[in-house]
Amino acid sequence: MIEFSGVFKRYGQVLALDGLGVRIEPGRVTGLLGPNGAGKSTGMRILLGLDHPTSGQALIGGRRYGELSDPLRRVGALLDARGVHPGRSARNHLLGLARANGIAASRVEEVLDQVGIARIARRRAGTLSLGMGQRLGIAAALLGDPDVLILDEPLNGLDTDGVRWVRSLLRGLAAQGRTVLVSSHLLAEMHQTADHVVVIGRGRLLADCSTAKLVGDAADPVVVRSPNPGAAEVLRTRLPSAHITVGADGDPDALQVAGADEGAVGAAAHAGGLVLHHLARRTGTLEAGYLRLVDDEIEFAAERSEGAGHVAHAAQ
Ligand code: ADP
Repeated sequence: MIEFSGVFKRYGQVLALDGLGVRIEPGRVTGLLGPNGAGKSTGMRILLGLDHPTSGQALIGGRRYGELSDPLRRVGALLDARGVHPGRSARNHLLGLARANGIAASRVEEVLDQVGIARIARRRAGTLSLGMGQRLGIAAALLGDPDVLILDEPLNGLDTDGVRWVRSLLRGLAAQGRTVLVSSHLLAEMHQTADHVVVIGRGRLLADCSTAKLVGDAADPVVVRSPNPGAAEVLRTRLPSAHITVGADGDPDALQVAGADEGAVGAAAHAGGLVLHHLARRTGTLEAGYLRLVDDEIEFAAERSEGAGHVAHAAQ
């Protein structure tokens, strides 16, 4: 398990992490989402001991990365796929890593096969395409057969097949009970890949929930059409906490119901004796859920700084 507790990271004037606290559980793929500059890479670097928090701690299985006795066997990471010596072949790069970490050379052939680059393993890393380079980076992360995987933008540079391959690889690794933390700005892909999402903005935790919940929260209202006069009143009586408006999609006979799912709306219509000609909920997207969350944060931050302005003004 990965755990951030009260992690602050300051770079001069910039507060990259502002008291981040979150746990990343094993057995599922967790997507780390947030706008550029949110602190995703900083969090991953701190987790991997490449940077030190100003305060707080980030632990893997209860220990700091630097305290792990056999780090490559515990944690596999992909941070920057270009961090490979360009003159070395893919195979030699992996052999060097294996040797330095007491991992059997036979494991190199296994991971080359697993990521689908065995055929080009003799080519120099500098001549590989971005996608092949990503696969080599993922091979290095898998080399020690670790329980924890931390991958920063692993889909970058991959074509459609590559993206599909990474998705099934990550889901397979999580299904084996491993902890898989993946950052990506490709929200449609994360929708299909991640079971769980952690959203950060300005170094703070904005959401830590299932992907389905973030998507569901953003789903459009249920739209119903009924020939019965007074259908809106019937639904309002039966669904007092829902927000019902008359007229949807340019159709004056359609009703929009926000704040109730299609099951509740269907049941309320049935109980109220309404005939329905249409009942549908538009499918939400991860992007819509994410954008709403991030927009709220931006508005909140603006209000906060306005509030701070008032305080400063009053103090003068
Ligand atoms: P993300 O990965 O979500 O895009 P980062 O973790 O890269 O965000 O950056 C978070 C914030 O910290 C940004 O404002 C960035 O400019 C700043 N930052 C990151 N690394 C450094 C550094 N080494 N020196 C100064 N500022 C940094």
